[in-house]
Amino acid sequence: MRQTVGSPVSGRLASPHTQPERSTRSRFSSHRSKTMILHIDMDAFYASIEQRDRPELRGKPVVVGGGGGRGVVAAASYEAREYGIHSALPGSRAVKLCPHAIFVRGRHAHYAEVGRQVREIFTRYTPVIQPLSLDEAFLDVSGTERLFGDAETIGRRIQTEIATELNLPSSVGVAPRKFIAKIASDYGKPKGFVVVREDQIHEFLDPLPVERVWGVGKVGAQRLHRLGLRRIADIRRYEESWFKQKLGSWGCHLWRLANGIDSREVVSDRRAKQISHERTFSEDQSDFEFLHSVVCFLCEQTAMRLRRHERKTATIGLKYRREDFQTFSKSKALETPIDDTASIIRVATELLHTMRQTQPRPVRLIGVSLSSLVSGDTPTQLSLFDNPDQGVAERRVDKVVDQLAKQLGQSQIYRAGSHHWRNRPRE
Ligand SMILES: [Mg+2]
Repeated sequence: MRQTVGSPVSGRLASPHTQPERSTRSRFSSHRSKTMILHIDMDAFYASIEQRDRPELRGKPVVVGGGGGRGVVAAASYEAREYGIHSALPGSRAVKLCPHAIFVRGRHAHYAEVGRQVREIFTRYTPVIQPLSLDEAFLDVSGTERLFGDAETIGRRIQTEIATELNLPSSVGVAPRKFIAKIASDYGKPKGFVVVREDQIHEFLDPLPVERVWGVGKVGAQRLHRLGLRRIADIRRYEESWFKQKLGSWGCHLWRLANGIDSREVVSDRRAKQISHERTFSEDQSDFEFLHSVVCFLCEQTAMRLRRHERKTATIGLKYRREDFQTFSKSKALETPIDDTASIIRVATELLHTMRQTQPRPVRLIGVSLSSLVSGDTPTQLSLFDNPDQGVAERRVDKVVDQLAKQLGQSQIYRAGSHHWRNRPRE
C-alpha cells in the first residue's frame, strides 16, 4: 500500500544522520532499553524483481502492469520514474510519458514468494514484524540488541542480506518512533539508510513539507497550506489547543506527530488486536454509491488479511472523516465471530447507512476496522445467514478469491461491489 507523500525533498541528510559520530553512538548505547524501530521498504519492488530476473531489462525504464495502455501501473523502475511514471498511473498515461518503456506483465505469485523470502530475513533478527504490504514492514528491534548489536547495525545487516542473498535493493529508516522511521526510509530512497536519533527528531522533521506526515493527503495539505502551514516546523509554532480548535482530532494527531510524539507500537499481525484499512480521497465525496464501493473494497482487504492470519472478528467498525476534518466512528459487535467477506460487507454497509443519515456532509476519509479478534477455529453460527447454505457458499467463494488473489494479485480479482472505487478515474 502506498502512502500519499509529497514531492521528495531533494538532497540527502547531512552526515550526522547517515554517519553518526562515535560520541553520539556511545551516549545512546547507555539507553539500551529505548525503543528503536526499523522501517524497511523495498525499492520499486516488482520492477526490481523483473530487472533482477531478466538482465536485459537492467538500466531500462521498466513498467509492471498497464501494458497496451490498459489498467494501471503496478510498479515502475527508477529509470521509468524519471519520465514521471509511478504506480497507480493509468497505463495509457504511462505509454504517453515514455513510449519506449518496457511494459511487463505482473507475476504476482512470484512477487509474493520473494516477499516471503524478504520476510524470512527479518525473522532472523526479531519476531516483532508488522508488514504494511508485501514489500514494506516495521520491525521493533529494541529487545534484540544484545544478540545482534544496536538498531543501526541490525538495519545494515538486513539491508546487506537482502542485497546479497536476494539481489534486490531496499531502503531502511531507523528511528525511535514508527512514523519517523517510515519517513526516514523514504527520505534516502533508493538504497537509502537514514538514522534519526532521539535528539535529532526535530532537526530531521522541522524542514520537511507537511505532506510528508503520515496521513496528510492532498486535501489535508491544502488545508494546512491555507492556514499558512507548509513545513513541520510551522506546525510546532502553535499550541495543541489551536489545532484542536481548527482541525479537530485530526489536528491534535498531526500536532503530536510534528512534535515527535507517537506512542504507536510495532504490532505483529499474529498478535494484532485490530485489522484496519482506510482511504483518503483526493476530493471530498458525497455520492453513496461511491462511498459504498470504497467500503466494499476496504472490507475485501481487511477480510482477506483476517483469513490469512487465521482469525475471526466479532466487532466491525467504520471510521468516517468529514470535509471539515471532524472524525466519527461507529462499530457493531456481533454475537458470533465471522471471517467471510460478504457478512463483513453487510455489517459495514449498515454502519455506512447510519453514518450517512446522521452525517450527510461530504466525506474525505473512510476506514474499516475489524477488532475483537479470535482464533480462526472459533465456529461461526451459520444462522447468521438467512439460509445456512448461503454461509457455506460464501466461504467457498472467499477461498477461491483468496487463492486467485495470491496468484494474480489483489487488483485482479474482487467483488462487483468495489468495482466503482477500483476503477475510479486517476490522474
Ligand atoms: Mg516499496
